[in-house]
Amino acid sequence: MLEFIDRHRDQYITWLQDICRQPSVAAQNRGMTETASLVENIMRDLGAETKQVETSGYPVVCGTFQKEKKKSLLFYNHYDVQPEDPIELWESPPFAAEIRDGRIYARGVADNKGNLMARLAAVHAYRHVRGELPLQVKFVVEGEEEIGSVHLEEFADRHQDWLQADGCIWEFGYKNADGRPQVSLGVKGMCYVELVCRGANTDLHSANAAIIENPAWRLIWALSTLKTPDEKIQIAGFYDKVAPLTAEDINVLENMIYSEESTLAKLGLRSFLLNLTGLPLKEKLIFQPTCTICGLESGYTGEGSKTVLPSVARAKIDFRLVPNQDPHEIHSLLRKHLDQHGFSDIEMIPYALEHPARTEIVNPLAVSVLETTKQIYGMEPTVMPMSPGTGPMYVLCQRLGIPAVSVGVGNFASNNHAPNENILLEDYVQGIKHIAAIMDDFAKRGNSQ
Ligand SMILES: [Zn+2]
Repeated sequence: MLEFIDRHRDQYITWLQDICRQPSVAAQNRGMTETASLVENIMRDLGAETKQVETSGYPVVCGTFQKEKKKSLLFYNHYDVQPEDPIELWESPPFAAEIRDGRIYARGVADNKGNLMARLAAVHAYRHVRGELPLQVKFVVEGEEEIGSVHLEEFADRHQDWLQADGCIWEFGYKNADGRPQVSLGVKGMCYVELVCRGANTDLHSANAAIIENPAWRLIWALSTLKTPDEKIQIAGFYDKVAPLTAEDINVLENMIYSEESTLAKLGLRSFLLNLTGLPLKEKLIFQPTCTICGLESGYTGEGSKTVLPSVARAKIDFRLVPNQDPHEIHSLLRKHLDQHGFSDIEMIPYALEHPARTEIVNPLAVSVLETTKQIYGMEPTVMPMSPGTGPMYVLCQRLGIPAVSVGVGNFASNNHAPNENILLEDYVQGIKHIAAIMDDFAKRGNSQ
């Protein structure tokens, strides 16, 4: 099988270039129907039963291989990509899929087309070498991941039976700075809201500030009640449902490799928040919730000075949540907090409310991924008990009892969402081999549920 993959390397790279040359920018509705059809056609040519499921947004492309098999593995991916600007910072056109120095450069190649094609190539290789897959394989490829998976819950609600699987390989995965593959076993949740504070019905000459309330000050006072400088979030009840760490969690954290020095150097910083280092740093990164001001806007911020009393102030804030915090509950605790602190006039507009999700390290799928990583890469992977990022793992997997594990073909310098997004060709080929090995190994393991 591994030899077969090596022999077909050029063909698989061409597949990846072809799909990367098709733009699919969800935020700008560019190339979305074309890419959905392209993905569906590739899966059909590989022998899948396919359908494009319409949603209120872009379609979800589904594919099933060997549905007669009882044991099943689900792959979750997305065909949409981020906008490519600032385009002037790209060294080759973002949709040219140019190969330079062993890397392929394209918008979406790391996030997420490289992973999608590696998984499809693994199915191709497996079927050619062994005649059939060892288990049922299902693909869910959505078109809205980069704009918040807006309609994935709607899709998952309507297709719960079809989705049922013994495990799911999640969309992303990276190699660390030292070339070590990283396996992550969950995602943080999210409560994202915009706070809007209004004053007079128009901007005013700032001489009026003597007697007219300034919404920018009010918003800042409100924000300052949310968190103290030592990072404690002050919303009553915010931490109540945070699950305590188990001995196993601490063990996994201790073994998790996090390159502090290279991260600081890359970011031009001297230290992490609160001077954290070692285990407490890793614990905060993985297991602590956050409260972040993502954006703040009011009044005049252009060139020179303008003495203005703004009529409105806006802040976008996100909370990254950990098990077992509930985004809807956090949302109402925040409302209650603002009311109790005298800010009942501040409007809250919710954007994303996503639950956290986690799979235990002893779960058979996790064991299978970790064991095969050692076989294929010849080294111990580093395990992230949860990714500090967020994704719709709860709606697609956790609430249906499906364990989910993230592993993939990206690297620490893949530049996701940024100019010169890339993956190493070698990582792509290894990723294909890894997926083939996971299918083989997981098919033989005891049932996970
Ligand atoms: Zn992305």
